[in-house]
Amino acid sequence: MSIKYECRMCGTCCHEVPGDYVKRIPIYPDEADRLIEIAKERNIDFKIIEDLVFPDIKNKKVLVLTYRIKLDNENKGCPYYLKSHGCTVHDTKPLACQAYPLALKRVDAFNFEISIDPLCNFVIEKYCELENLDIEKLKEIFKEEYPKAEKFYRKNKKLIFKIRKLEAKKQIEIPRQISLEEFNRYLQSWEREEISVK
Ligand code: SF4
Ligand code: SF4
Repeated sequence: MSIKYECRMCGTCCHEVPGDYVKRIPIYPDEADRLIEIAKERNIDFKIIEDLVFPDIKNKKVLVLTYRIKLDNENKGCPYYLKSHGCTVHDTKPLACQAYPLALKRVDAFNFEISIDPLCNFVIEKYCELENLDIEKLKEIFKEEYPKAEKFYRKNKKLIFKIRKLEAKKQIEIPRQISLEEFNRYLQSWEREEISVK
């Protein structure tokens, strides 16, 4: 029997999950700017933290590709989530939220792939039917979300491509191996530079 994705409107994806796992709702710098702007207009306490970053040892800078929404408030949730309404920035919500429960899984330092987030309650319910699906089936089940996941994927790819291009032109240098100690030292002392694409 073929299934179709139906959001259970539970709000789990907009909240921290219990336990040690750190929930990531990634946003690009332009999305972060927009959400910060709306937060100012609405007087909402909206915070972000750096997420996907690369140290550039040539210019002694930390390159910031994405941020994530800080979920450290009383409800451990996105400040834009209201129990009575769900997402209150529906028209401007980040690509990661538009594509959900499809997400980008990191394969290695520079590569990502589209995957299904196992933390979504619809996915948990239908897990047996969803595991080991081929792409065509995935597109059918997540008819509206798949094109958004592709957009999300393309934007991520463009960002990585921009980084690789800067490397090829020797304008930046990203180490392929780095100790956690060194990385933390860079994070603490180096300036930030946002890397954005349209
Ligand atoms: S922006 Fe909207 S969909 Fe995304 S985490 Fe916040 S409330 Fe949820
Ligand atoms: S966790 Fe899944 S089912 Fe629940 S609101 Fe988010 S997308 Fe919908």
